[in-house]
Amino acid sequence: MRKPLISGNWKMNLNHFEALTLVEKLAYQLTKDVFERVDVAVHPPFTDLRTVQTVIASDSLEIQLGAQHCHWEATGAYTGEISPAFLAKLDVKLVICGHSERRELFGETDEMVNHKVKAIIAHDMTPIMCVGETLEEREAGQTETRVLDQVRAGLDGLKREQVGQMVLAYEPIWAIGTGRTATADDAQAVCAAIRGAVVEGWGAPAGESIRIQYGGSVKAANAAELIAMPDIDGALVGGASIDAEEFARLVAFAAEA
Ligand code: PEP
Repeated sequence: MRKPLISGNWKMNLNHFEALTLVEKLAYQLTKDVFERVDVAVHPPFTDLRTVQTVIASDSLEIQLGAQHCHWEATGAYTGEISPAFLAKLDVKLVICGHSERRELFGETDEMVNHKVKAIIAHDMTPIMCVGETLEEREAGQTETRVLDQVRAGLDGLKREQVGQMVLAYEPIWAIGTGRTATADDAQAVCAAIRGAVVEGWGAPAGESIRIQYGGSVKAANAAELIAMPDIDGALVGGASIDAEEFARLVAFAAEA
């Protein structure tokens, strides 16, 4: 049984004071039994990580700390980049890589995503590798080809047991931050195809244990329906994750799904 993972991607929102307030509000609203049913993570901006880590540690919160991105090298002359080793030292547990905003706005390629996935695993953190099609690709009937190409390229060279521990996030680009969501049936079909590709490439145990999130305008109102689908094991949430009440409601619905 795969435990669903609900991840809040705060993107480039909230300074470290605001982050502190949000995580405290969230901790207050999430009950103990919710954490028995779902894992919850927050991915603040880099400048907030130390602050959020300190609250999580000092209050023994069950919320997991995540980052939004990293480089694949541990140290060196990479001005402005973030080392996976430094994230691990901050007790970061999960790192998003290949988010469509990084692919589109910052030129992240499948090859770079693959390097990052390997580096994140090498530093004992869990990658959340994002894949998803554009609206044009969807309308041209290329969703599955595009998404499965990204999955195979991003996981290339990984061992079966490494893949089995990972998280993939299916995020149709046209649904991110737009208020448009894939129907639960559509999202399920793509997530099932992703799982099928993992089984084919890395074996049935890896396919059975890998967690596949859906992302794209997930809110409290649609979370339960999506997460109830057999191949959807949680959600990667942007906009709705920076509102403590909305995110806590979303997590509670997911826990009931
Ligand atoms: C995201 O940031 O990955 C995302 C899915 O954003 P939103 O929930 O705002 O669409």
